[in-house]
Order: sequence, then C-alpha cells, then structure tokens
Amino acid sequence: MKYLCIVLALAACSEPEQTQAYSAAVSTETSADSIVPAQYDGGKLVRINKSDAEWKRTLSEMSYYVMREEGTERAFTGKLWSNKAKGTYVCHACGLPLFSSATKFDSGTGWPSYYQPVAADYVRENKDSSLGMMRVEVECARCGGHLGHVFDDGPAPTGLRYCINSVSLRFVKEN
Ligand SMILES: [Zn+2]
Repeated sequence: MKYLCIVLALAACSEPEQTQAYSAAVSTETSADSIVPAQYDGGKLVRINKSDAEWKRTLSEMSYYVMREEGTERAFTGKLWSNKAKGTYVCHACGLPLFSSATKFDSGTGWPSYYQPVAADYVRENKDSSLGMMRVEVECARCGGHLGHVFDDGPAPTGLRYCINSVSLRFVKEN
C-alpha cells in the first residue's frame, strides 16, 4: 500500500486580527426614572440654573465638555448613533425627554439624528457662527445643555435633521 502524503504549505497570515472597539456593544439603556418630565409655571417651562462648578460635579468630563463648553464628540464614537431600539432619548444632564426613537433616522453622519424633538419648546435653537460656518445650535430648553445642531437637509415630514451628540443624551428603552 502506498501512502501519498501531500503537504500543503499555506502561507498563513501571522498578523493577529485587530480587535475593534465597537461602541454599540456597550449597554445604552438607562432606567425609566431617568425621565424627568417638564414642569410649567405660568405656561413657561421651568428652567434649571446651575453654576459651572455644580455641572462639573454631576457630569462626566466628556458630557461637561460637550454640554457646557459646546464641544462635539467624534463621529461614530458615541453610544447612541446606531441604536435602533424603541424608546425615549432624554437630556443627559436634566432628564427632559427630548427625542423619540420614532423620529430617529440613519443620517450616515455617525451622530444620533432625529427629524423632530418630542415637543417644540423642549429645545432652544441659537445661531452659531463658530468654525467659520453659520449653523443653528440646539440646546436643552430646561438646563441649557448643548445638544448639537439642526440642519435643513432632513427627511419628511419636517425636512429637519437634529444632529445630536450621544453624550448629551441618555436612552430609556420602551418596555
Ligand atoms: Zn437638560
């Protein structure tokens, strides 16, 4: 009996596969008590006013940078841009329910994007001429925390794109 031994010498790729830190694997959910409903006094939304020192104590370094210093998280790095679960996105700093998953869409930008807020008076819009561009800044109407910007290239029915930093939000999943 003849034995034929065929050895295939394949050039193996010796480089280890790179481990990708994929943010979507991180839990994005917050408990329902993170929602702090709006309160009105004389028809006006009751605001929260805290000093920078107070915000520094309650916010993470990144949330403070974005929400109080109008910074921007890098695209595709936040926890919520790819989140497709049903629920409510509340202000990270004060819990005001700002956006519903029903109005979230995939903008391809790497930031959570919505075509409208939960209520028109829950967000405030300010002209922003920084970085040599004319943009419209969006902030939480209750605590004044910076959320992101709104652009007029969004989908129907509003045609708006609220481009929001993940660190300015918390996600409360619908049960
Ligand atoms: Zn807020």
